[in-house]
Amino acid sequence: QVPLKPGRSLMDWIRLTKSGKDLTGLKGRLIEVTEDELAKHNKKEDCWICIRGFVYNVTPYMEYHPGGEDELMKAAGTDGTDLFDQVHRWVNYESMLKECLVGRMAVKPIAALKGELLHILIFLQQIPAVILVVFSKLLTLNLVFKSSNYDWFQTDSLITIVIYTKQKDMNAELVIVDCQDKRLRGEIIMDDHSYLVEVDLDHVVSEDVAVNIAEKVGKVEIILNKKDNIHWKVLGQPWEGHNTFIKRTDRGLFYRKCKLVSKTEVTHDTKLFCLMLPKGTHLHVPTGQHVYLKQIIAGTEVAKPYTPVLPFLPLDFQEPPRHDGVHIYLMIKIYSHGLFTQALDHLQIGDYISVSNPEGNFKKSQVQTSEDLLLLAGGTGFTPMVKLLNFALTEVSCLRTVKLIFFNKTEDDILWRNQLEQLALKDERFEVQFILSQPSKNWVGKQGKISSSLLSEFVKRSRRDSKVLICICGPAPFTEQGVQYLKDLGYSQEEIHTFTA
Ligand code: FAD
Ligand code: NAP
Repeated sequence: QVPLKPGRSLMDWIRLTKSGKDLTGLKGRLIEVTEDELAKHNKKEDCWICIRGFVYNVTPYMEYHPGGEDELMKAAGTDGTDLFDQVHRWVNYESMLKECLVGRMAVKPIAALKGELLHILIFLQQIPAVILVVFSKLLTLNLVFKSSNYDWFQTDSLITIVIYTKQKDMNAELVIVDCQDKRLRGEIIMDDHSYLVEVDLDHVVSEDVAVNIAEKVGKVEIILNKKDNIHWKVLGQPWEGHNTFIKRTDRGLFYRKCKLVSKTEVTHDTKLFCLMLPKGTHLHVPTGQHVYLKQIIAGTEVAKPYTPVLPFLPLDFQEPPRHDGVHIYLMIKIYSHGLFTQALDHLQIGDYISVSNPEGNFKKSQVQTSEDLLLLAGGTGFTPMVKLLNFALTEVSCLRTVKLIFFNKTEDDILWRNQLEQLALKDERFEVQFILSQPSKNWVGKQGKISSSLLSEFVKRSRRDSKVLICICGPAPFTEQGVQYLKDLGYSQEEIHTFTA
């Protein structure tokens, strides 16, 4: 993220797109764009980018882009789909850039395609026939591009969809099911890939959906209740992505509407929002991952990431708390000039908001092999630490020490201070250190900003060679500086995890 000039916020951009100004320079005309034509528009003052077959003139957007002009220029005059998927996956560019649409990419002329085909044929001729036969056989069996398979069967009252993932350690967090009206969508996460079953069901089912997982053999069952006792001839009509196994980043983010059921104050500017998943949804957000919330603001779809927390810090560590399967809790700071958080704050109990599937690259195994866990949080950068703390203290037996170093401006900004202090009293492995950057005169604790000297004072191994994991989350410059100081202190990249989008 780069600082934007005054008057260049997202809201200012939305205003400009609604002003009726000709942002493409084509006076509302849409054209077919060839690759050669696209390549010509590769300068800041004349910059076109192709995203998923559509070409946009992004010159007017340059100064409004949160990632900065240089980032956008990387795709100037070319196909920027991959870049957008990597960096701006959550940004609904179709809505955001709709006034910048120049037109579609022209379909490649057959002659050019023929040339490419010829190359493929020449290459194929060099492969022994027997390999080609085996390959085509595998293709027809759908085994080359898909490492999973599904099956379905029925009784008088039930429909059971069975997915054989062939993956060990399958668990409830890796299965996301949405069954509303007659549409069924079941996504299974397998490392960085995703397998999807998505159909319009043949007949109506009731709202309760069960998910059974045989963890050791990787078998997943989605069980639906028939509304009418009739025999189904087919499971349903497939959607485009049905029965595909592709990279997660190539699968669009799926959103479902959740109801706001409560909103409670955490501090003077931060609230705990409790959202209820719709009936028919099975979704457990894994530790260390975030979701996107999406709402329409001034006619434009806007989505921002938030990290689910627990309703409170469990102090009784006898048993890991069970996910109730229905509620998602989000701790969100409301900024007085914030575009998204102001709209969120205006939501009424009973209103709906769209919530995406989870994302994030944190792996629990990083903690499972550590002896010391150090958490550096700045402000709401505390949110990923909540589930992480809970996981570490309830489920990781090899951990000897867990320390949270929590940076805030003032005492009033400290999130869940009471609970954290109680937790430190209750569990001797856990310690919390509050550091304030703008304390009042009465503050007797530590003060300052993240620095090499503060970190060398608090970040320590419990034994000379103990295995540490340091997790860091907060304002981007806080995180970046923190990582640099840690490296200067001799910690390796593998020992540091940063939470980012
Ligand atoms: P904007 O309209 O973008 O900004 C308006 C003004 O608000 C800014 O000028 C600035 O003064 C202030 N402001 C906005 N954003 C920030 C910021 N990030 N840091 C400092 N000042 C800022 N936020 C939470 O409250 N809880 C979470 O659980 C959470 N999880 C996140 C997870 C990820 C992976 C990431 C990347 C961010 C997360 N955020 C979280 C931040 C969140 O996504 C938004 O950036 C934030 O809510 C501000 O949105 P806004 O539209 O209201 O503010
Ligand atoms: P804040 O209250 O503004 O700041 C928290 C602490 O960090 C304060 O002590 C502050 O000190 C310090 N700080 C702020 N900017 C700094 C900088 N440039 N260098 C060093 N220290 C700095 O924080 P917030 O408003 O709650 O914001 C939290 C941030 O965390 C947001 O940017 C949010 O996007 C991010 N976040 C990320 C994730 C994630 O990636 N998974 C999850 C949740 C939140 P001073 O301001 O006094 O200098």
